[in-house]
Amino acid sequence: MGTHTPGLAVKFGEDARSPSHACAVSSSQLAPFRSWLAAKLAAVGGLAATLAGMLWTSSVGWVPLGVGLASAAAVYGAGCLWLHRRLRHLQNILRQIRTHDFEDLAPPAAPEGDELGTLLWEVYRTGQSLEDEIQELKEMESYRREFIGNVSHELKTPIFSVQGFAETLLDGALDDESVNRTFLKKILHHANRLDNLARDLSTITKIETNELNMSGEAFSVMDLCEAALESVEMRAEERNVHPRMEIAPNLPDVYGDFDRLRRVLVNLVDNAIKYNEEGGSVWLQAEMKNGDVELRVVDNGIGIPEEHQSRLTERFYRVDKSRSRHQGGTGLGLAIVKHILGAHDRTLHVDSTPGEGSIFRFSLSTRPASSLHPA
Ligand code: ADP
Repeated sequence: MGTHTPGLAVKFGEDARSPSHACAVSSSQLAPFRSWLAAKLAAVGGLAATLAGMLWTSSVGWVPLGVGLASAAAVYGAGCLWLHRRLRHLQNILRQIRTHDFEDLAPPAAPEGDELGTLLWEVYRTGQSLEDEIQELKEMESYRREFIGNVSHELKTPIFSVQGFAETLLDGALDDESVNRTFLKKILHHANRLDNLARDLSTITKIETNELNMSGEAFSVMDLCEAALESVEMRAEERNVHPRMEIAPNLPDVYGDFDRLRRVLVNLVDNAIKYNEEGGSVWLQAEMKNGDVELRVVDNGIGIPEEHQSRLTERFYRVDKSRSRHQGGTGLGLAIVKHILGAHDRTLHVDSTPGEGSIFRFSLSTRPASSLHPA
């Protein structure tokens, strides 16, 4: 996967404000402003004053001509001042937009007034929305870079490991009964990691491009919890953990996207097993709280130090990187959980004490939502 996207790199890789940029024109290079409009106004005003003078004095002579010229000069002077100031402001805003110099964009006095005032305001607003769009594109670009950097880093280790073990096997270890099966198991482990990563990446990409549409059906919490535990059965057996369900009796149905919420519980229970001792305990609890059903995944595992708790749902954030990777973790599980719950207008809460265990909890509505957002 390459890290270069020509379109955006050209746009943002170079500083649009740098002197070398084709659009960067300093104010001294601006075409000098001549008030042709004021001159035209003055000519019309002068002509009108001359004609009026002639009519008033009923003669063609120096007096009306003088009055006309004086009026023209006065109109020109006043017009120049008035127009010059406002058109210069407009010219400055346009230059700032062209050179992406948004920080100093000076707002016009008021949006209303005459046509020039409205035009100034429109140009100023255009500059502002361009600034917002450019800022958004810059953020997307920096997110994209960081994401690609993380993904390639995540891919490297399992790929190198698969290559290394395969080469060692081909170089003779294949016939060595004492190591060949171990090496093959390691290859399988790393291939599984790659598989997990591909799946989680596909989910998170769909989420972030709004392709994951949610359905909003009614279902029983018991069905949801049973479906989630079924999906983690293998992992639980491997680690000799037996998750227990503690579902309060007579819970009402909840509303949401069953499959996605199953995924939320699977990720949380899977973590509760992964970040636990072999034979540790995991509980899946549900009860009414403030009119909603609260679901809790509780474990007596390694726990999470407080300084990490607020960052757990960031993409690729891990407390103990090597433990996570060893367990086949991708660092994307809780980011996916956050997005799915967000689409249900719900939040994930964590209470944890290092060495004692963790509680991950969220609530589900017992009332149908008018619509669910994409995840
Ligand atoms: P991963 O694939 O690494 O498990 P997650 O996004 O699911 O990624 O979790 C992020 C990190 O949060 C994990 O790497 C782990 O350090 C920590 N974590 C999550 N759940 C638990 C838990 N139940 N107990 C202790 N640490 C946990």
